[in-house]
Amino acid sequence: MNVLVINCGSSSLKYQVINSDSEAVLAKGLCERIGIDGRLVYQPAGGEKEITEAAMPTHKQAIQMVIDALMNEKTGVIKSLDEIGAVGHRVVHGGEKFAASAIITDEMIKVVDECSDLAPLHNPANLIGVRACQELMPNTPMVGVFDTAFHQTMPKEAYLYGVPYEYYEKYAVRKYGFHGTSHSYVSKRAAAILNKPYEELKTIVCHLGNGASICAVKNGESVDTSMGLSPLEGLVMGTRSGDIDPSAVEFLAKKEGLDLAGILNVLNKKSGVLGLSGVSSDFRDLETATNEGNERAKAATQVFVYRVIKYIGAYAAAMNGVDCICFTAGVGENDSNIRKAVCKNLSYLGIQIDEAANAKRGEEIVISTPDSKVKVLVIPTNEELAIARETVALVK
Ligand code: ADP
Repeated sequence: MNVLVINCGSSSLKYQVINSDSEAVLAKGLCERIGIDGRLVYQPAGGEKEITEAAMPTHKQAIQMVIDALMNEKTGVIKSLDEIGAVGHRVVHGGEKFAASAIITDEMIKVVDECSDLAPLHNPANLIGVRACQELMPNTPMVGVFDTAFHQTMPKEAYLYGVPYEYYEKYAVRKYGFHGTSHSYVSKRAAAILNKPYEELKTIVCHLGNGASICAVKNGESVDTSMGLSPLEGLVMGTRSGDIDPSAVEFLAKKEGLDLAGILNVLNKKSGVLGLSGVSSDFRDLETATNEGNERAKAATQVFVYRVIKYIGAYAAAMNGVDCICFTAGVGENDSNIRKAVCKNLSYLGIQIDEAANAKRGEEIVISTPDSKVKVLVIPTNEELAIARETVALVK
């Protein structure tokens, strides 16, 4: 079966068509600047990337353009829409209602809509993508795959905040966690690569991208993760602050003459390694600047690494041990210096890194030495494939 995987944001939409039998990507791309002007990127497997500038006032029009590209006589990969057996949608927040992926129904859309309070930037955009696809493909089954679902196994002591309990009861204020599809995929791959039963492993997954989070996976279940009620908590990220004393919010609001929304905008978009360095949110730029003697870029990288080291320590303690540590996402997969800097401080766990293995890029690889007590792996994440698998499992 061919599955169309959709990751819909407020002004952009990423897509892939994956054949679930071969797990091959038939075509992929994205729509950008939806509602502004519009740009479609389309790439069939083994073919050139095509870029089309074209008006895309709505998400429905964007998806129609994707469908047209997929069915294009010359460069398309399907002849008719019947060749798409199902659509898998990434949905960011499923609240406490969804501990697993689910077939999209009117009832499900209603519940996701209710969760919009908790993810105002993401859920409404995800639902716009769902509705647009439903209009264009009314007979195709659709599945919602939630970023939060994998973390619904966290115990109370991990997900409750130390605030009045009625806030949890009344408003569902708690830690939810994100990147669940990635943490689940990577921790399962780690077990397969190490040839160990997933249900018996203690794994720490470091998903280090522009958004970054760490997850403790014990016996196949997420037991803690660094992001919280929203994706702002936890690690220092590309542009997000991660953990910060809540008092700083009021303090800065007064000093800077900003309201709450203004401060949250700073914490989400102008903080992290971008805010610290004043250079960039991209670790490649930080490395270049550091090599040119930029002290702030160097400090920003050190702060990032230090926070990762602390969370790994916390999760090793939370699980009373750790068998393997995985690095994934843009930084985790590509930046051997960051991995080296993190692992240098993990010798207390008996971790030793094989420098030659760590220097490799873009492949699944064990980067610890054979006698390292804890195994360290680089595993490229593949959220689209994970969404396609979940989709097929539910539709079949
Ligand atoms: P997201 O999905 O959260 O947008 P990604 O997982 O794609 O993020 O990661 C993007 C980040 O990965 C970039 O901002 C950059 O910092 C980092 N990155 C990508 N390639 C490299 C590389 N070759 N070396 C170092 N960092 C890289």
